[in-house]
Amino acid sequence: LYVDHPLGQGQSVPLSRDQAHYLFGVMRLAAGGMVSLFNGRDGEWLAEVAEAGKRGGALDCIERSAPLRLPPDLWLLFAPIKKARTDFIVEKAAEMGAARIVPVQTDYTNADRIRQDRLQAHAIEAAEQCGGTFVPVVAELIRLDRLLDGWPAGRHLMFCDESRAGQNLELEAMPAGQPWAILIGPEGGFSPSERARLESLPFAHTVSLGPRILRADTAAVAALTLWQQALGD
Ligand code: SAM
Repeated sequence: LYVDHPLGQGQSVPLSRDQAHYLFGVMRLAAGGMVSLFNGRDGEWLAEVAEAGKRGGALDCIERSAPLRLPPDLWLLFAPIKKARTDFIVEKAAEMGAARIVPVQTDYTNADRIRQDRLQAHAIEAAEQCGGTFVPVVAELIRLDRLLDGWPAGRHLMFCDESRAGQNLELEAMPAGQPWAILIGPEGGFSPSERARLESLPFAHTVSLGPRILRADTAAVAALTLWQQALGD
C-alpha cells in the first residue's frame, strides 16, 4: 500500500478514509493484521494495524522488509493525447521503470493542460501493482522548446522518429549508467521545425522503432522496452 507519510522504526501512519475502506472493508484486515507499506522514499515496511475504523485508522511500522530500489535515470517525455491513452502511457511508464514522466507540449499537441494529480495517482497505482518501492514523478506540462532550452548537461535523448525506418541506434553500444530521456511525439508527429531542431542537437539520437507507424502509446511502450533491454537494470 502506498502512503504519503514517513516510514521508519516505531512510526505511526494514519490512514485516510479510502485507505481504511480498502484495508478493513475490502481486504478484511483487523487490528493486529499486517500490511506492506511504501512511500517512494523509505523502502518497503511491514506494518501492523493498530487501529481499524470505518473512517480511518492507524498502522505501526514494525520493520523494513526491502530497501528503496531506485530505477535507472530514465525520463519518458511524451505529448499528451486522449485522456485514456495518456493514462495508459503514464501507467506503463511507471511499470516499466521510468524515473520521471514529463508531458510535453509540442507544435501538434492538442492538450494545453493536464490533470497532473490524476496522472500522479496513476503512477502510484502502477508502482503499487508492480511491487515497486519507488514512485516516478509526473512533471508539469512543459513546452518542448523550453525543455530543450534548459536541457540538463550529460543527459542523452532518444528521439523516436517514425520517418527514420532502418536507422537504428545501437543502444547496447552506449555506455551504461548515464542519464537518458525518451521522446515520443503526438498523433500528428513532430513539426518540420521541431524535427530539424531535434536532429541538430548534439545530445539527441534519432531512433526508429521499425517500419510501421505506431500509435504514440504503443511507441512509448516499445521504446521503453528497447531502452530497458539495452541499458536498464
Ligand atoms: N505523424 C505520424 C503520421 O501521422 O504519419 C504519426 C506519429 S506517431 C502516431 C506518434 C509518435 O510515435 C511519433 O511522433 C514517434 O515519436 C512515435 N513513433 C511511432 N511509430 C514510430 C516508429 N516506427 N519509429 C519511431 N518512432 C515512432
